[in-house]
Amino acid sequence: MQPHRTASPRAMPPSRPRLRLILLLLAALAGPPAFAQGDVSTMVIATASPAGVYHATGRTLCRLLEAPCEARTSDGSAANLEAVRAGEVTVALAQSDLQHYAVTGTRGFADAGPDPALRSVMSLHGEPFTLVVRRRSGIRAFDDLQGHAVNVGNPGSGQRGTMMTLLEAWGWTLDAFRPAYALPADQQSLELCHGKIDAMVYTVGHPNPSIEQAVRLCDARLVDVTGPAVDRLVAEAPFLTRATIPAGLYGDDQPAVETFGVRATLVASADTDPEAVYALVAAVFDDLEAFKSRHPAYSDLTPERMIGEGLSAPLHEGAKRYYRERGWLADAPMDDPANEAEEPDAADEPPAEPEEPPTVPDN
Ligand code: GLU
Repeated sequence: MQPHRTASPRAMPPSRPRLRLILLLLAALAGPPAFAQGDVSTMVIATASPAGVYHATGRTLCRLLEAPCEARTSDGSAANLEAVRAGEVTVALAQSDLQHYAVTGTRGFADAGPDPALRSVMSLHGEPFTLVVRRRSGIRAFDDLQGHAVNVGNPGSGQRGTMMTLLEAWGWTLDAFRPAYALPADQQSLELCHGKIDAMVYTVGHPNPSIEQAVRLCDARLVDVTGPAVDRLVAEAPFLTRATIPAGLYGDDQPAVETFGVRATLVASADTDPEAVYALVAAVFDDLEAFKSRHPAYSDLTPERMIGEGLSAPLHEGAKRYYRERGWLADAPMDDPANEAEEPDAADEPPAEPEEPPTVPDN
């Protein structure tokens, strides 16, 4: 097993070589990396359905990490946030809207209450809320869904969480559909093909094979999700944005689709080993172009976006350490006072950076 990296040498501030040496020696003495929240040596990354981009992302992260690592399929964002809270996984993928609800204990997380230990690591690709319908259903807009058989996603999935927010803003409940199905992401295209459902929603990066399957093989098409309810949601919530699915991604006759969306984010618990999070962050950012080449959905990623967008929970200690070393971290919006209160061992911490906006590296 290779030891996990502790720093990008190019980016080490000159004042820290002694600390770095000590950390390296301690890591070497400690033996294999303890990556999970418990005393386990394998990094476990909670992803989602095998049909999505999360699982591909988890596998890519594991490959780049060069240490024992498992990309674990799951029910999706909401389930992942619960797993992080329960200490069952090392890190997890989660939509920016659900990350916000988990940290504040709102919406689907109202019963569980706020998760003060939730930490963000970085944000990743954009996930447009995608509505796919059978052409023959006659559905041309979100309003037309009323009375149709609609898959709103399995419990635990991100699309179900986003759909519930949208339904409330729209003034509807699940009773608007006849009926509402709770199929997982890897089954819904097939059921659209079979005519069991007229429409499905998926909050996912594009292009995506399961949507491609529905569109190309089953005479389905993508539909705009726009209107005053969406305008209101986007205006009120910083973790929701307008989104466009580019024309032609799913065939020459597919026009650009207007909708709204979230960012995929990577989260961990404050209890997750900072070295593990540091190693993961370094695996992505030491060669960001190599990471971005792994999926077309990553094409718009920049360090500035990845540490600045969609992160409601305070940054994890291990992530902050890396971002400071690269000179990217200022007292950004996510760096709130609660975060500072959580600062662990002062001895492990570099001096606080002066207050300035994050800068994009010149490489
Ligand atoms: N956004 C979806 C969810 O949170 C997962 C999308 C994907 O698998 O790429 O459940």
